[in-house]
Amino acid sequence: MSFWNREIETLPEKELKKLQLERLKRVVEVVYNKVPHYRKKFEEAGVKPSDIKTLEDIVKLPFTTKEDLFVDYPYGLLAVPKEEVIRLHTSSGTTGKPKAIFFTKKDIDFGAELIARCLVMSGTTKGDVLQNSMTYGLFTGAFIMHYGAEKVGVMVIPAGPGNTERQIELMKTFGTTCFHMTPSYALYVASVILEKGIDPRKDLKIKRAYLGAEPYSEETRKKIEDMLGIDVYNCYGLSEMGGPGVGFECVYKNGLHIWEDAFLAEIINPQTGEPVKEGEIGELILTSLNREAMPLIRYRTRDLTYFINEPCPCGRIHRRISRILGRSDDMFIVRGVNIFPQQIEAVLMSIKGVAQNYQIVLENYDEMIVKVEIDRDFFDGRVERLLKLREEIIEKLRKTILVRPKVELLEPGTLPVSEGKAKRVIDKRTL
Ligand code: ADP
Ligand code: ZN
Repeated sequence: MSFWNREIETLPEKELKKLQLERLKRVVEVVYNKVPHYRKKFEEAGVKPSDIKTLEDIVKLPFTTKEDLFVDYPYGLLAVPKEEVIRLHTSSGTTGKPKAIFFTKKDIDFGAELIARCLVMSGTTKGDVLQNSMTYGLFTGAFIMHYGAEKVGVMVIPAGPGNTERQIELMKTFGTTCFHMTPSYALYVASVILEKGIDPRKDLKIKRAYLGAEPYSEETRKKIEDMLGIDVYNCYGLSEMGGPGVGFECVYKNGLHIWEDAFLAEIINPQTGEPVKEGEIGELILTSLNREAMPLIRYRTRDLTYFINEPCPCGRIHRRISRILGRSDDMFIVRGVNIFPQQIEAVLMSIKGVAQNYQIVLENYDEMIVKVEIDRDFFDGRVERLLKLREEIIEKLRKTILVRPKVELLEPGTLPVSEGKAKRVIDKRTL
């Protein structure tokens, strides 16, 4: 078992908690004294830094919501003098106006340290070749991964997303051993590799992929692993917490370790704001314990998950969460039923004959249309086979989401390909 920072990764629970408490006290003090918006929020909640005596006292502190990031935009939550800031990133703006996130030099270095732990934990090491196919730009994902990989001594190919032909050429020419992409784009790239007649097990050197930035199901992971003969590791992060590297899987792929020296994680009931019972699903709340430029207290991620409390055989003490089950922002309602796109994805990706791409179209409140690409050989004129597949998809979806959707089967390549985060739901009701 390899470790990048064995000492911190295997710190006994008691010491880890002690470190968390020290850092929590410090960060609360900092935002209270340096960020007027936080001071105001704390005063409104009737809480002072000296009220934080144990980790459990965190519940006394108010939540930070996405809306707080727009108060005195863009510098309202800065906790250091502006001259200390060396980088701006923004969230990808999946859900509205982009949030401005600032980094000091130490913030960038620490982000890279967390990624270094993540990469080594899943077997990536000096000598590996990482094709980084996330967007280099305002988005944090590509940069922080890039620095972390360089720290480990990996050779990085800063490919960026898109131009799939070139992606595959790079993989072949430079012997890419791992890549970093969104899962939706990885499905597409994998399908092009196979369509070109390339045998990924023989002709490519890829061993593993780091897929994240958007929710995906276990079925999608398996599908990509089978198509390419690789291991897929789930990586979770968000710009507000300094980018990727917040939660990563180890070789056991049994949930994502959250680096608890860097983040204090809670899971709450999004309706009541109260902590959920052990192991229950709720909204992940993160407090950045070690960020300088813009530490956030009890940040409401809107991402749904649960804690996995059993110890991990890898020996890391840092607690695990399940893969993100959905973003509360992504939930939509059809005929009064709450549905997440991932539920549909999981069903589709488990059905033989379904290809890589799909789209959900909401025309009105009673009807949902699922457009799904299926393998090319289904379009050989055998209509009955096609109808049977369509019926299978409808039935399996109905059983899971309790609504009978309309299903349209399409040839591969019909739906738009996303190179970054996929837009799965077209909601015509709100356009
Ligand atoms: P946004 O998409 O909110 O504009 P970011 O680009 O910072 O902002 O993306 C962070 C969000 O992406 C997370 O809050 C989460 O919803 C999603 N995300 C990131 N990694 C994963 C992952 N591995 N699984 C599921 N969702 C993820
Ligand atoms: Zn582990």
